[in-house]
Amino acid sequence: MSDTKAHYLTTTLPYVNADPHIGFAFELVTADAITRYWRLMYGAENVFFNTGTDEHGQKIAQKADEAGKDRQAYVDHFAGEFNRLKEGLSLSYDAFIRTTNPEHKVAVQEMWRRCAAQGDIYKKKYSGLYCVGCESFKTEADLVDGKCPDHNKAPELVEEENYFFKLSNYQAYLEEYLSRPGVILPEWRRLEALNFVKGGLEDFSISREKARLDWGVPVPGDDEQVMYVWFDALTNYISTLGWPDEEGNFGRFWRDGNVVQVAGKDQVRFQSIMWQAMLKSAGVKATDQVVYHGFINSGGQKMSKSLGNVISPYELIARYGTEATRYILLRHVHPFDDSDLTWEKMDEYYTANLVNGLGNLTARIMKMCEAHLEPEDYPLLDPKTLDAPDMLNFQAAMDHIWGLIQHCDEVIAETEPFKLIKTEPEQAKAILSNLRADLLHIGRLLLPVMPETSATIRAAVRANKKPENLFARLPE
Ligand SMILES: [Zn+2]
Repeated sequence: MSDTKAHYLTTTLPYVNADPHIGFAFELVTADAITRYWRLMYGAENVFFNTGTDEHGQKIAQKADEAGKDRQAYVDHFAGEFNRLKEGLSLSYDAFIRTTNPEHKVAVQEMWRRCAAQGDIYKKKYSGLYCVGCESFKTEADLVDGKCPDHNKAPELVEEENYFFKLSNYQAYLEEYLSRPGVILPEWRRLEALNFVKGGLEDFSISREKARLDWGVPVPGDDEQVMYVWFDALTNYISTLGWPDEEGNFGRFWRDGNVVQVAGKDQVRFQSIMWQAMLKSAGVKATDQVVYHGFINSGGQKMSKSLGNVISPYELIARYGTEATRYILLRHVHPFDDSDLTWEKMDEYYTANLVNGLGNLTARIMKMCEAHLEPEDYPLLDPKTLDAPDMLNFQAAMDHIWGLIQHCDEVIAETEPFKLIKTEPEQAKAILSNLRADLLHIGRLLLPVMPETSATIRAAVRANKKPENLFARLPE
């Protein structure tokens, strides 16, 4: 155990009613790159990376029932599909929390009890506009032409008695919380969230009558009500660390650690407002930072089955391999804004920047070094050399790396060491030695984003040998 501060990072949990989509693959890869970087900087024992699956809710129960499947077996299948991304995307998470875990349910009920003890949970008759597709109530402000914009359907008027969380009690607290610099990245989204809170907060419903929702965690002390998504889904971020046990991983990584969450831009209200109020109510430390990413579109449009432009992470991995998929997601998707990916563009990135860029440069430098230089005993890794700018912005960090690649290409083109070696061998060897050191630096910087490629390049430099081709050409 060291006294370095511990660092915790969690993704959101995807709802398991469909196969993983590319937006979530991006979230996972971003989280993975951040935690790999942290492990280098702070030591692996000081880093905890959580992801998992959100498995309750009526939509899932209905689908399982319709398919004539046992509900638990049904969610087991989807949890397996998500967990399969671990290998495909080379993910290094420490925990995969499933909201159907018995330990998780215990934590969720404790969270509820604490908020209730604080006077923040009350029951009331409620009637509202309910979108079945979203599984949530909508306010007039959420609707476009009277319809849910996500489902293009008018919500139904529903009346029932539910428990509510008194978000309105946390107006002043949330204004203070959201005024802390860095609590949300990017900064403009923090200001947006702060403005939203200043506009006034409505209490939100946190349970459903059992007749409408019977696949979830029971409300403590009320057999007729089942918890609706929020307590169940959000509490995973701490239940995965063993909470309500205050010691162990929870004490180390959450209470005393640096807590970072990554989430999509549509999550601000849930992660930075509702969840933060729940934590405050339960007497648990707030999240230190939530990093919000944009969405990935294709061909200028939102991906959808009807448009036939859905790009699945498995297709990406099949075509480009794990390392190049990570490259495409971390360099060609903006960390905070919406981005657009098409197969044409991805093929171009792959060929220009990996096959002809990094792959070709590595082969050229190491071929010349193998022929003309002796090996040098470089240290395999020196975290102090990982000085790429702003490692939470991978696009910027990757642009920096590809700037170094371009610089090496230019040095080779200008000095032509392969010719110079015949006339000025000492000068040529000095140039090659510098190029090899630069390549090693590139290999080290790549570690959080392309771990295998990084290892191959560093090993090649140490062995002073040209490696096998790093990236195969795409089939014609
Ligand atoms: Zn909807």
